[in-house]
Amino acid sequence: MIIGAGGVGQVVAMKCAEQVNHFSEILLASRTKSKCEQIKEKVLAKYPNTEISTASLNADIVEDTIALVESFKPYLIINVALPYQDLAIMDACLATQTHYLDTANYEPKDVAKFEYSWQWAYHERFKDANIMALLGCGFDPGQTQIYTAHAAKHHFDEIHFLDIVDCNGGDHGKAFATNFNPEINIREITQPGRYFEEGNWQEVPAMSIHQPIFYPNIGERESYLLYHEELESLVKHFPTLRRARFWMTFGQEYLTHLRVLENVGMTSIQPVQHLGQDIVPLEFLKTLLPEPSSLGENYEGETSIGCYLSGIKDGQAKHYYIWNNCKHQDAYRDTLGQGVSYTTGLPATLGASLMAEGTWMQFGVWNCEQLNPDPFMAAVGQLGLPWQEEVLVQTPFLG
Ligand code: NDP
Repeated sequence: MIIGAGGVGQVVAMKCAEQVNHFSEILLASRTKSKCEQIKEKVLAKYPNTEISTASLNADIVEDTIALVESFKPYLIINVALPYQDLAIMDACLATQTHYLDTANYEPKDVAKFEYSWQWAYHERFKDANIMALLGCGFDPGQTQIYTAHAAKHHFDEIHFLDIVDCNGGDHGKAFATNFNPEINIREITQPGRYFEEGNWQEVPAMSIHQPIFYPNIGERESYLLYHEELESLVKHFPTLRRARFWMTFGQEYLTHLRVLENVGMTSIQPVQHLGQDIVPLEFLKTLLPEPSSLGENYEGETSIGCYLSGIKDGQAKHYYIWNNCKHQDAYRDTLGQGVSYTTGLPATLGASLMAEGTWMQFGVWNCEQLNPDPFMAAVGQLGLPWQEEVLVQTPFLG
């Protein structure tokens, strides 16, 4: 059962339909049923034999999700709605003994803050109910943690430094649009930057640290230090890490739009009075911006996301890079989605199939780096996101 019929939901539905041996029957549920219907049509056009149904669901209402789960009886819920729904859907999973997977950690609607504590607090209850929750199984979070686990298992005795680098070198032809849900995206990037160093979290003003970083097949792009949720779980699960940071590219055009919108108060989540009604400026802005699912058709260029790691192997210093490049047009050909939805939805579908076949099944609440990376790394290339790795003589991130 897939919840959320947005950009990522469409990719998940397409990739589940492709893997009919794992997903023989699909229910796509979301707030707006017509969006589910549109995705269903696209799925059936490509995979005419798919058993796919749709439903209207407000997943904020636990009882409604429970009722839908009880009628459809899914093995697993793939939650690709918004982070606000995570806990409500996890509650419904507990009530119905249904496995759970998502791609973004819980965030309360009225505070722009995300952290794992709320979802980690479900671990014992999920374990006692004999169900599994896999958190953050997109690309970042998700595949970046699996890359780190792969490096830790096969290339290092100890990892000390991690820099996750994320470039969207694509062009969707719009003056300003976000590649995933605008509200969540803008909340994320307007927060202060944070990184982990020598046991402490350092906080810096948003976008204040930046440098050019080279991305394979794309070139050098100015990259900005952001706080990203997988840093929290990675420093917990790899305690030898001395520094962990996350970098993302933004074009000047995007940053200029964002600065103006911030300056006039359009990115605020505090309600304001407008013609006698309370409106939240960021929610209104989301209404004006293009839907992430609408960007695919004319999107050109590619994404490049990877992990630079440095540490020790056999007593020697070692530097290493592992990455994926994904062309927006390839994503569109495969799923009618754009590259950012694709790089999120594909790992989610693979994670779900590894849970369903038992390879990754373990009760409780888990982050991706806690599971064996090998079966994922063996399968992800063929599904559409091949990875490359290189041992480096020098890393661009030390010194
Ligand atoms: P979209 O805005 O395109 O889609 C979100 C969908 O969720 C919409 O169809 C929306 O319905 C639906 N929805 C919202 N609220 C509810 C609700 N209460 N009940 C049921 N459905 C609801 O976003 P994306 O597809 O781009 O992103 C989906 C998720 O993926 C987000 O959580 C995002 O943070 C995450 N993500 C993760 C990444 C990763 O690498 N890990 C990268 C990119 C995204 P409606 O249309 O009616 O509003």
